[in-house]
Amino acid sequence: MSVETVSRMIHWLGHDTMRIDADLTVYIDPFKIKSGLPADIILITHEHFDHCSPGDIAKVQKNDTVIVTEKDSAKKLSGDVRVMAPGDRLTVKGMEIEAVPAYNTNKDFHPKANNWLGFILTIDGTRVYHAGDTDFIPEMKDINADIAMVPVSGTYVMTANEAVEATLAITPSLAIPMHYGSIVGDGNDAETFKSGLKGKIHVTILKKS
Ligand code: ZN
Ligand code: ZN
Repeated sequence: MSVETVSRMIHWLGHDTMRIDADLTVYIDPFKIKSGLPADIILITHEHFDHCSPGDIAKVQKNDTVIVTEKDSAKKLSGDVRVMAPGDRLTVKGMEIEAVPAYNTNKDFHPKANNWLGFILTIDGTRVYHAGDTDFIPEMKDINADIAMVPVSGTYVMTANEAVEATLAITPSLAIPMHYGSIVGDGNDAETFKSGLKGKIHVTILKKS
C-alpha cells in the first residue's frame, strides 16, 4: 500500500492526538476527543496529562481494546495494558509496533531516563512514526519511517526549526507536524516547519478533524 494511501488513513484530532483508520482503529495520545470510533489499539507515549488522559481514553476504550504504553502511564490506566520500553517490539492484533526513544536534550520536561516513548507502526508495509514529546535526538538518524509525525511547538518539545533538522535526519517520504494548536504552539509553527522542508521533504498540514 502506498504512503499516500496510508496517509489518508491518518486523522489529526488536535494536539498530539492521531486516529489511524486502517483495518484496525488506532488512537495515539487521545486528548480532548469526542466519543468516536471505538479503538482496537490505543498508544500512549508518556504520562503527561495532555498525552495520557484516562477520561479521553475511556471514550473509545472497549473490552478488547489493547493499550500500549510505558510504565508510568500504565499505572493510571486499566484494561488490557501492555508496557513497552524504547527498543521493544510488539505485535498486537497483527499490527507491528516498535517503541523508540523520545526525550529532551536542552530542557527537563522529558528526561531520557524516564524511558518515555515514540512509536513506529507498520501498516500494510508502510512505517508510520509518531515521535511523542521529544527534541531532535541522535536516535532519529536510525529511524526508518515512511511517514513521520513530529512535534513543532517548542517549549516542551522541539521548535519548528529543530523539527526541520530532525525530519532531515529521519528522511521520511511524508512529514506531518503536530503538538500545536492546543496547549502550546499554533498554526504558524506548522507553516514554519513546512516552509523549512520545502523542496526537500513533502509536508502535509492536517486539518483538525
Ligand atoms: Zn510531555
Ligand atoms: Zn506534550
